[in-house]
Amino acid sequence: MVSRIITACVAAATVAALGISVKPKSEVATESPTASREQPAAPKYDLLLRGGHVVDAKNKISAVRDVAIAGGKIAAVAAKIDPAEALKTVDVTGLHVAPGLVDIHTHVYTGTGERGSYAGDNSIYPDGFTFRVGVTTVADAGGAGWRTFADFKDRIIDRSKTRVLAFLNIVGNGMRGGKYEQDLADMEAGPTGDAAKRYPGLIIGIKTAHFTGPEWAPVERAVEAGTAANIPVMVDFGTGRPERPVSELVTKKLRPGDIYTHVYSGLRGELDPSGHVNPGLFEGRKRGVIFDVGHGGGSFLWRIAVPAMKEGFIPDSISTDLHIGSMNAGMKDMLNVMSKFLAMGMSLDDVIARSTWHPAREIKQEELGNLSVGAPADVAVLRVQSGDFGLVDMYGARLSAKERLVCELTVRAGKVVYDLNGLSRPDWQSLPAGYGQTGDARWDGLNPLPAGRGSSR
Ligand SMILES: [Zn+2]
Repeated sequence: MVSRIITACVAAATVAALGISVKPKSEVATESPTASREQPAAPKYDLLLRGGHVVDAKNKISAVRDVAIAGGKIAAVAAKIDPAEALKTVDVTGLHVAPGLVDIHTHVYTGTGERGSYAGDNSIYPDGFTFRVGVTTVADAGGAGWRTFADFKDRIIDRSKTRVLAFLNIVGNGMRGGKYEQDLADMEAGPTGDAAKRYPGLIIGIKTAHFTGPEWAPVERAVEAGTAANIPVMVDFGTGRPERPVSELVTKKLRPGDIYTHVYSGLRGELDPSGHVNPGLFEGRKRGVIFDVGHGGGSFLWRIAVPAMKEGFIPDSISTDLHIGSMNAGMKDMLNVMSKFLAMGMSLDDVIARSTWHPAREIKQEELGNLSVGAPADVAVLRVQSGDFGLVDMYGARLSAKERLVCELTVRAGKVVYDLNGLSRPDWQSLPAGYGQTGDARWDGLNPLPAGRGSSR
C-alpha cells in the first residue's frame, strides 16, 4: 500500500514536471454515454448514513433518520433520503447516530518530554484515543498556560485531526507539577485573559487545578481572566480545605456558566457527612453553575455517584479527564464513562445529550454537538451492546452492567475516520482481481485515493 502511494505520487510529480495536463478520471468518465450509470457525475451528497436512530438533543430528534453530508457539513436530516443522490451510502440500521462526542476534560499536551507532567508524559496524543470512541472534539483542561500555549498549539492543536480546544491554565506555566501549580505569583489574570482573547474559539475557557493552599486567589484570578475574555472557568478544586468550602465556591465565587469538574470524586465535600448531596451543590446549580464528571484516575466513586444520581444530582456534562493514568484504570475512555451513566439508569438520549450538545453549549461552541444542517459533519455511530460487563471506579470497585456502548463509525468533517467493522467498505470478493485502494477522498478520511479517482463503493 505504501509503495503504491509512493508510486502514484512520483507519477503525479513526473506529469507535473513535464507540464502535461491530465483530466481526472471522473471528468473523462462523464464523456462516455454509459458511464453515468456507474457513477453519477455530481452526486448531491458525499456521504449518506442511512436508517440509523438519530439522537440530536439540540434539534430534539430521537428517531430513525437518514443523515446526508456534503462538503464536510451536515446537508440534510430526513426520514428518507434517496441513496441515488449520494456518492457513498452506509447502512447504519440498528445503530445510534449521534453528533461527534465532545469531551471537555482531557489532557493532550504531550510530546514535550517533561516527565510526570500534564504538559508532557502524563498526557496523550488525541488522535490515538478519540475517533475509536466517537470523540471528534476534545478540550485540554489546563495543560498549557499563557507562557506555553503557543507551543501547545504548534505541537498538538495544529497537527491533530481531532478538533482540539483548550482551557488555559491560570498558572502561566501550565500544569507542570507542584512547584509551578502552587506558585501564586505565576497566576496572573491579565496575561491569561489577554492570551485567551488572542485565540477566540480555540481557548474556550480558563482552568484552575490542583491547588493545595487555603487561599481563594487561584479561583478569583481564573474568574477575573474568564470575565475579561468572556469564557467560562473550569475548576478542579484541588485539596479539600475548610477555609474554602465547595458550597461557597459554587454559590458565591463562581459565575453562572462556570464549570465544577470532578463532581463525583467525594474529595471536597460533594456529599455531606450524612451521605446526602451537599445542599450547596443544588444551590449552585440553581444559580447556573455547571457540574461536570471529569472521571480521571482519582475522581469517580460509585459510593458518591450512585447516591447523588438517586437524589437527582445528575451531571450537566460527561467527560473523561483522559490521561496516561486514567485510560488504563477505571476510566478507560469516553464510551466507558457514558456506559456508567447508562448503568445508573440515565436514558441513552440523555447520556448522548450530556456528551454532545450540553458540553458544546458549556464551552460556547454551539456549532458543535448537534446535527443541524450546516453544522460541521462530525458524527459518531454507536452500538448498544448487550452482555455481562463490569465498570470500575477509581478505587477499583466494580458495578455490573448489561449494556456497553461501542463505536462503530466516526465521521470527522464529513469523512470516515474510524470504521470498526468496515461498514463503509466493500466485501473484498466483490472487487476486481488485483484490486487497489478503495474509497474516495470525498467521504473517506482513512487512506483514499484523491477525489474522483477511487471507487465510490
Ligand atoms: Zn484533569
